[in-house]
Amino acid sequence: MASMDNVCDITIFGGHGDLAFRKLMPALYHLSNDGYLSFSSRIITVARNDITNDEHIELVRSKLIEFIGESVFNQEKFERFKSQLHVVTIDFDDEKSYKGLKELLGAFPSRERVNYLSTAPDFFATICKMLKNWDLVTDVSRVVLEKPIGRDLESSRAINSEVLKYFEEKQIYRIDHYLGKDTVQNIMALRFSNRIFMPLWDANNIDHVQITVAESVGVEGRWGYYDQYGAMRDMIQNHLMQLLCLIAMEPPCSLDADSVRDEKVKVLRSLRPMSAADIERKTVRAQYAKGSIDGQPVPGYREGEGMEHSNTETFAALRVDIDNWRWNGVPFYLRSGKRMHQRNSEIVIQFKSVPHSIFANQGSGISQNKLVISLQPKESIQLKLMNKVPGLSDQMRLQQVDLELNSRINSTRKSDAYERLLLDVIRSNPTLFMRLDEVEAAWKWADVILAGWAENIIPMKSYQAGTDGPSASIQLVVQDGVSWNDE
Ligand code: NAP
Repeated sequence: MASMDNVCDITIFGGHGDLAFRKLMPALYHLSNDGYLSFSSRIITVARNDITNDEHIELVRSKLIEFIGESVFNQEKFERFKSQLHVVTIDFDDEKSYKGLKELLGAFPSRERVNYLSTAPDFFATICKMLKNWDLVTDVSRVVLEKPIGRDLESSRAINSEVLKYFEEKQIYRIDHYLGKDTVQNIMALRFSNRIFMPLWDANNIDHVQITVAESVGVEGRWGYYDQYGAMRDMIQNHLMQLLCLIAMEPPCSLDADSVRDEKVKVLRSLRPMSAADIERKTVRAQYAKGSIDGQPVPGYREGEGMEHSNTETFAALRVDIDNWRWNGVPFYLRSGKRMHQRNSEIVIQFKSVPHSIFANQGSGISQNKLVISLQPKESIQLKLMNKVPGLSDQMRLQQVDLELNSRINSTRKSDAYERLLLDVIRSNPTLFMRLDEVEAAWKWADVILAGWAENIIPMKSYQAGTDGPSASIQLVVQDGVSWNDE
């Protein structure tokens, strides 16, 4: 059992929304039960509709069972957890409606406060302003912002500058839930606690890097949101860029938040800006057409409600170059799409070939070493090495073998990324959250590509739902003599 000294009041705005029920409440339930959140802490849900505390508790109970599963849910533990649950009714725009929250929080005026804004970003400024007007922002208050924080540099700056009127930068926690995954944090452990990788981690030894985040699901009813964003804004500018930073960054001088984030920002600032010719040669955008997933027919993106004329990409692939000494000449290939043939997120670090093969006349080729970091659906790290095929054959035959680097004890419950991130907010540790300059550097680079796409420098391609994307994505890497890891 962990230490129980984390006492705080956690207020979830948009607390009856999908994210709150699917991820936040289960994370808090586990943190509380596992002893990471003191039982004196309160979890205050902000709902739009009038609801009694008893009705709210029953709703949380049923949603917990739905999202963590009946076998994991424990009624005895819930009996204790439910005493931490509170609900207040607020319409974000109605200042008077915050009175109930003021009364609740006012009972413990010096307690640490976490305000989780699980709402559309249009509400961030209003909610922060109301909290300030009601004198609910203290030195020990924090605010957590869900993505998306804008759809370009300008709108992102507008949102951030509004929030910064009421909270200081050190109080703002911008979530990228990919950074809460254990395997993603393991990238730092792998790179910076193993000497063997240190001399190999550069342009002398690494041929290229691939980062793929593929989803088999479509838009899941969120047409209004997704059509405004697309794959570049929804996935690449944030999640894939953060993964790229962890692979490409220099060793930070310590694990403290600013040291790590300083190094990530340096990577983002070293991304080579794309010219119009680069956008044509190094980027692909595409939309899925009808196809089938797991044998079930699925409609195309433009068959969605009101999407007949949509020009939003559901797939993007890019070659990214980093202009610094370490990565000179090493391409980073990024791709992300919806309605792909399977859910799969992975990072592949492909090492260069051996300088000369002594096995060429033995009937065996030598595959390049790869470090494959899988994030979804299962989390694992594998090093692919060459090995001798056992036996007495005349020839020295070779085979590729996988060295599995994970040693998770299967019986322990695997914690979700939101547990890690919520615990870090509770403990005031912003290392895994994006600092303002990181967000802006990523937008600055992505905006150039988005502007080029808006001018139709490259056409929108199409791919069949249930495939690995358009053929142009294969062409993108083939022109450099590379193939995607799944081919
Ligand atoms: P959602 O299901 O629409 O939840 C938003 C909640 O805000 C709803 O419960 C809604 O209340 C409430 N709300 C809206 N306007 C309000 C108002 N004026 N006053 C009071 N309450 C109001 O959205 P979500 O899926 O949870 O997503 C929340 C945010 O997280 C979004 O920015 C989304 O992009 C981001 N996000 C979501 C996910 C996910 O898995 N869902 C993942 C990553 C990021 P009603 O129920 O009464 O409408």
